Amino acid sequence: MQVNEVTAYLSLGSNLGNRLEMLHDALKLLHAHGQVSVTKVSPVYQTAAWGKSAQPDFYNCAARISTSLAPEALLDVLLATERALGRERLERWGPRLIDLDLLFWDNVQLTTNRLVVPHPELHRRRFVLLPLADIAPQLIHPGEKQTIAQLAANCSDPLAVTLLPETVFPNT
Ligand code: AMP
Repeated sequence: MQVNEVTAYLSLGSNLGNRLEMLHDALKLLHAHGQVSVTKVSPVYQTAAWGKSAQPDFYNCAARISTSLAPEALLDVLLATERALGRERLERWGPRLIDLDLLFWDNVQLTTNRLVVPHPELHRRRFVLLPLADIAPQLIHPGEKQTIAQLAANCSDPLAVTLLPETVFPNT
């Protein structure tokens, strides 16, 4: 890791198309960016979609990255990656192929009109906390003042989250 780089954490989700391939392709595109290195990826979990039961289940994972990008510049890269993957198959599969969220950027707390970090819902969502706890159990949420392992253990989200055997990215 270079001196100007920080550690950040992402949540990835897909509920359309080839969901494993979408997660893999998103990580590959992010890793190919000159200012982002994917350094660790969780196993994949399957979660029922909220509300609309007609929707396929989500596949979710969490990733640790090393980056020299500032938070909003990193958000721009996440949005560009969503567009790059979504546009390819938009007509065939519809709009919600991949969702990329910035969970943590270093231990910074930040609110702008485009970005809230840490992600404001992360400590309430089991599908975010379980994969994150696999790769960063001792990470402390700067707002909640608890580790990810504690937040995962205390989470009251009723949605079942199931560990899948597949992996989507080689860990370095
Ligand atoms: P959604 O597609 O529902 O995940 O919403 C994406 C929008 O949420 C983005 O265009 C961002 O401007 C905004 N946003 C605010 N905070 C975050 C965050 N921590 N990570 C990703 N998007 C965020």
